[in-house]
Amino acid sequence: MTENLNPPVAGDRQEPLRLSDLQGRDDLGLVCRKCGCRHFYTRYTRAKPGCILRLKECRNCGHRMTTRERAG
Ligand SMILES: [Zn+2]
Repeated sequence: MTENLNPPVAGDRQEPLRLSDLQGRDDLGLVCRKCGCRHFYTRYTRAKPGCILRLKECRNCGHRMTTRERAG
């Protein structure tokens, strides 16, 4: 298993968010508590009964947090 530490090229552009970009995103509103950054890597995704857990890591300061999303 190779750990990819480089951000994806497509996600590295500094463009303002458009409404069309926001639709369909379930991590909308996720903001780093430490630095206020809105860009996160997803370190892993784990499916649980009724929800999905994701470990997010801030691209700016490296702060990690988990998010919980409803499945289905
Ligand atoms: Zn941060």
